[in-house]
Amino acid sequence: MNNKEIIQRKTKILATLGPSSKTIKKIIELSKAGSNAFRLNCSHLSENDLAEYINKIRRAEEIIKKPIGVLVDLQGPKIRIGNVSEINNSLKKGDTFIFDNSKAIGNNKRVYLSNNKVFNSVKKGHLILIDDGNIHLKITSIKKNLIRTKVIQGGILKSKKGVNLPQSDLKTSALSSADKKYIKIAANLNVDWIALSFVQKPSDIKELRKLCDSKISIMAKIEKPSALKYINEICEIADGIMIARGDLGVELPIETVPGWQKRIIRTSRVKGKPVVVSTQMLESMTSSLTPTRAEVSDVANAVFEGADAIMLSAESASGSYPVETVKMMHKIAFSTENEKNYNSILANQIEETPNTTPDAIATAAKTLADELSSPIIVCYTESGSTGIKVSRVRPSQTILTITPIIQTARKLSLAWGVLCLLQKDEKNLEQMINSTKVTVKKSGLAYSGDKIIITAGLPLKVEGTTNLIRVTTVK
Ligand code: PEP
Repeated sequence: MNNKEIIQRKTKILATLGPSSKTIKKIIELSKAGSNAFRLNCSHLSENDLAEYINKIRRAEEIIKKPIGVLVDLQGPKIRIGNVSEINNSLKKGDTFIFDNSKAIGNNKRVYLSNNKVFNSVKKGHLILIDDGNIHLKITSIKKNLIRTKVIQGGILKSKKGVNLPQSDLKTSALSSADKKYIKIAANLNVDWIALSFVQKPSDIKELRKLCDSKISIMAKIEKPSALKYINEICEIADGIMIARGDLGVELPIETVPGWQKRIIRTSRVKGKPVVVSTQMLESMTSSLTPTRAEVSDVANAVFEGADAIMLSAESASGSYPVETVKMMHKIAFSTENEKNYNSILANQIEETPNTTPDAIATAAKTLADELSSPIIVCYTESGSTGIKVSRVRPSQTILTITPIIQTARKLSLAWGVLCLLQKDEKNLEQMINSTKVTVKKSGLAYSGDKIIITAGLPLKVEGTTNLIRVTTVK
């Protein structure tokens, strides 16, 4: 593996940081191993931790002189049970079990539920799942602040475990008061992406949008069956999508998750929204230097489906081999992308194209690059949207975006195939084209005589004006 391969890899790697990867030195090692962006999971971080991690990533970025994306993952309306006694905590099939709002320590008869809104969101007959779906209960009756259930699948009840309500629409705000505190910190420190957990409907994204700076991109985590009902609308208004297979596999019959993964990736790709496949991709590497064959296939499959990014969770946050795992993920993605059929598989998956000028320019850029055997498509971009549009058509050529805005470069760290160069705006179009020719030659991305394709917007320096395409020859 070398640096050139990391630059050539199209599928981005998003690695979660945690106790195993919390130093600036480790963040640099992970970046050099191939991680393009880092996820900070607010479920496991204090507010101080969050600020500290963001600052460390920014410091690492300065040292390696390469834009690094930061994604802050909010916990959203996650429901948990309260504390449970270490004795009398075993639930048996057929037992009656109660959820209530008393903070008294729980046992095998009852337990506290962290979110009051649950009591008027559920219905008789609905399922309640505890601890990643290990314990199943069916609701038999509901009174004010008390839910009576029958145990369908028993197990040992443990303190603070997560609760899933796959059949219920939660009548609760998409954002908790804790989420709002994390958003403030993230916005003050100019993070690039904020991900919202347990999105149920498009208005959840709008609620978050109201609290964020417009420069922050919003990622919708798809992990509720209700989000699947609105997947088109959610894709339309979010800036990116994460297929959160952990909770999705609890809320849905687990065997349906691969099919949903394919559908969500296609919907996101049609709409041109970066899509991340997450959870348990190389799980066994938390304690082993070699992944299972099935995990290798899972990563390769996400790459073949044209995912923009693939994610590591515990593997890089708390595992024993974070750097080795990133290296392995890189090797699998790089090798898959160099399979003979990779480009044709990607091209055959998407038929529709939105009929906007920037989308038409992106399609034309790919066609021109193919016809003229160009090695590179260059996109001048302010907001990053042209880079994402060109990425959407998945060209086999290098996509080089040039922007004067660091936040744009960081945001593009999750977009398939996009390399980013920070460069001051040129005064006029001719200067821009001349400097592009010098840049691509100097960086070894094109050689003398190569035709290159350039997209930009006139007037220069105005966001969302992509309206120009130019072919020029490198001297
Ligand atoms: C998931 O559920 O797959 C996920 C990515 O979310 P979290 O890690 O916050 O549970």
